[in-house]
Formats: sequence, C-alpha cells, structure tokens
Amino acid sequence: MSGLWTDGAVVRLTQLWNEGKSASEIAETLGNGITRNAVIGKAHRIGLKGRPSPIIRGEGCSIHQLTDRNCRWPFGHPGSPGFYFCGKKVVPGGSYCEPHKQQSLDQVALERDRKRRREKAGEYFAQTFS
Ligand SMILES: [Zn+2]
Repeated sequence: MSGLWTDGAVVRLTQLWNEGKSASEIAETLGNGITRNAVIGKAHRIGLKGRPSPIIRGEGCSIHQLTDRNCRWPFGHPGSPGFYFCGKKVVPGGSYCEPHKQQSLDQVALERDRKRRREKAGEYFAQTFS
C-alpha cells in the first residue's frame, strides 16, 4: 500500500486537491492502482483540508456582477465581506443554476414534510386532550 504513494504522487495529490478536484478525479489522474478511498485516506493523513463541494461552490459573483442570467444562491451572510452569490448560469426561466434549483426544491420539500409532522402532532394533542 505504501508503495503507491511516491513523493511525486503526494505532490500531485496536494496540487489536485487544492485545485478542488474530486477524490475520484484525483484517483483517476494518479492512476497506479490508487482508488478514491485511498485518495481520501491519504489526504486526511497528510492534513489536507476538507473543501466545500465543487457542485455548490459556484463561480462567486458579487451583487454588482449579478444579472438575471446568474444564479442568486447566496453564500455567507449578507453585508459581510465574504458574502457572494453563486453566479452560475441559471436554468432558463428560473433564478438558480441546476444544482441550486434542486437544492431549493429539496428545502421546500423538507419544510413541507416538517409542517406535515407539526400538523400531525397538533392533531394528536387535540384528540388526546379534548
Ligand atoms: Zn447556483
């Protein structure tokens, strides 16, 4: 196992990791029988930091750069220096890019589910205590 990680492979791993490549992309690039799991394990052992998922990281767009063709998914807190919008190309007719559209739909579904459970709990109490 240790034979896989030559000095060159470790350097390459660090570079690719910092460029935001996914573990499976890195495994593919390094080859030599290195698997996705081996990449993740090695990255942890040599202390490479976890990165935000490349899917939701977005392009990074300030409010001044934002047009109606850029995704408005916000990152960080409005008004703070690190705040930005996703800025990727929106799905035609929408306000978000494809992954963020999906994420917003997931949140709507989650909220609906939560509301339904609250209502169920309400009915239960109403029946029990009336
Ligand atoms: Zn987006």
